[in-house]
Amino acid sequence: MIQIVKNLNNIVNEETTLIKENKGVPYITFNKLNDIEWLTNAFSTRIGGVSEGIYSSMNLSFTLNDDSEKVLDNFKIFANAIGVDVKDMVYSQQTHTINVKKITKDNKGMGIIRERDYKDIDGIITNEPGICLVTSYADCVPLYFVDIKNKAIGLSHSGWRGTVGNIAANTLQLMKKEYGTKEEDVIAIIGPSICKDCYEVSKDLYDEFEKKYSQDELRDIFEKKNDEKYQLDLWKANYYNFVNLGIKKENISVTDICTCCNKEIMFSHRGSHGKRGTLCAFLMIKENK
Ligand SMILES: [Zn+2]
Repeated sequence: MIQIVKNLNNIVNEETTLIKENKGVPYITFNKLNDIEWLTNAFSTRIGGVSEGIYSSMNLSFTLNDDSEKVLDNFKIFANAIGVDVKDMVYSQQTHTINVKKITKDNKGMGIIRERDYKDIDGIITNEPGICLVTSYADCVPLYFVDIKNKAIGLSHSGWRGTVGNIAANTLQLMKKEYGTKEEDVIAIIGPSICKDCYEVSKDLYDEFEKKYSQDELRDIFEKKNDEKYQLDLWKANYYNFVNLGIKKENISVTDICTCCNKEIMFSHRGSHGKRGTLCAFLMIKENK
């Protein structure tokens, strides 16, 4: 396991990212969030779970064809590794929308150990200690938000639809409304997801982004291959979403971990042609004990 953690640390930028390991489970953390002592932050890998085959081994999706008992075991194993209880987790219900929901203690356990009472939710926020927000990924971009002044947090799922629809803006807007969050107090993380080189898209996607981004930004976000094909940089696109919202550049951290380039240790939808499990992002305000 120490070797696996060393190998993982070799693929990450140590200025932004730190691989931790506990009880045989490696996980990814972000230095800008590790500096905040009242916060728990993590992103899962494929390693350390009990699922088999294409789901091997830390699959965290109940909606693929994996055995639900194994998925729940995986959640328990991962929760234990990061010092959280599964009954305190709240799972988004992602359908590539830009909908964001405020989460309270009434939602605890939803999507993990009991039924949700919400659907079509791709972003979740809370300011209550002891609630672990959970969102899921396999190439799409995880966005982490932390208001360090008001102690409020958010997680959003930003695939190309969430990016061009700007779920980052919706997440920050709801944090402003509910918690009085100000842009200048937000730390924002772009987590492990597909890189530009692995993400070829067709011109109709370019046309969608052209409606929302400046020509300078588009030149940075897209690399044109030919009249029909482009390479799309979702990390840059979400970075511009953050900057254009007024989040300070020095408060933004961009990953360099591509799920597709590293498909042996991360789940990638593109890299596996859809035969894959799911990774999750975790974010929690610790309880005062
Ligand atoms: Zn890649």
